[in-house]
Amino acid sequence: MRRSDAHSGDPLQCEERTLVAARDVAPRMFGIGLACEGSAVMSAQAHSPASIADHALNPSARVHRAISPGERKLRIINLGAVLIPFAGLVIAIVLLWGVAFSAAYLYILLGMSLVTAFGVTVGFHRLCTHRSFTTPCPVRYALAAAGSMAVQGPVIRWCAEHRRHHQHSDSMGDPHSPHVSADGSWREGLWETLKGAYHAHVGWLFAPPSKGLGKYARDLRLDEALVRCDRHFHMWVLAGLLIPAVLGALITMSWIGLLLGFLWGGLVRVLLVHHITWSVNSVCHLWGSRPFETHDHSRNNPVVGILGLGEGWHNNHHAFPTSARHGLRWWELDVSYLLILAMRALGLAKDIRRPDKPRIASKRRRSTVGSGATNTPDS
Ligand SMILES: [Zn+2]
Ligand SMILES: [Zn+2]
Repeated sequence: MRRSDAHSGDPLQCEERTLVAARDVAPRMFGIGLACEGSAVMSAQAHSPASIADHALNPSARVHRAISPGERKLRIINLGAVLIPFAGLVIAIVLLWGVAFSAAYLYILLGMSLVTAFGVTVGFHRLCTHRSFTTPCPVRYALAAAGSMAVQGPVIRWCAEHRRHHQHSDSMGDPHSPHVSADGSWREGLWETLKGAYHAHVGWLFAPPSKGLGKYARDLRLDEALVRCDRHFHMWVLAGLLIPAVLGALITMSWIGLLLGFLWGGLVRVLLVHHITWSVNSVCHLWGSRPFETHDHSRNNPVVGILGLGEGWHNNHHAFPTSARHGLRWWELDVSYLLILAMRALGLAKDIRRPDKPRIASKRRRSTVGSGATNTPDS
């Protein structure tokens, strides 16, 4: 993606006005629901906030719940593709314990995974894409930097692609739907089904660049912290690989520690976070419950909800895209939301958005959607 050259200087000294400007522009450019949680993220031709609400009210627009043989095949393939590599990683760790793995590397692996995954879930997704809370510029830069270390692309491109997903979710134009290809359908048959599952999980990353992404990022390009971090993407990727290597060397005071720190905290961690993040795109549009009516196939999946730090409550998220809280019921563990609350307690986050109880109840009952929608800051 083309990068803006409008700003330069110390990222930690950028002014808050850039975010204010972004928040002013965003609703006009993209219909980001800063004042209306019931609206979807994007104003759009196909799925404007109003049309998405209409989808929820119009029975004919609801997703058909009957599972076709092709859909069943797609789910089984996806489940295998997601679970088998995880099982392989656990077996490798057990076999290598005491040889090329130990408690030190486990801590490095988990620590780097948490930092970079929170960078994606709290930084890239909830803060930058959906503007579900606000932060000072340095905090925004730090979260975007942590997300950049996950090696999922520069922050502005990531956000633009994700906004496109919300606008076209599971219809033509969705960059990573397991149900709909670029030309409308994956069609029947094992090969086509395999292609759909592969595309949703990882294949879409190798597809030709989406055209027209710029319109999804106009407000982001006014945010100085994000523009700078977007430019520094490669530097943060490198840092994400060097930090665990240095930690491994310092803990063990050895060159082999440097190598194993790089392998476990760098390469294996990238694989792990990639796989969990991609599962939100694939698993959470195939497996799970749908407590809210949305115009797509989004689902709440408890396994991805826990492993994905709250991102697996994906049907909730598609129903209330600008909510900082994805786990809406007490038992829907949402660690990313807990981090946002902790940030608020430390004075690092404010204007936290989440739908109020009547709003949630109305969408759950498939009753009134749209007019008078409120989004109660939970501060
Ligand atoms: Zn989705
Ligand atoms: Zn989203």
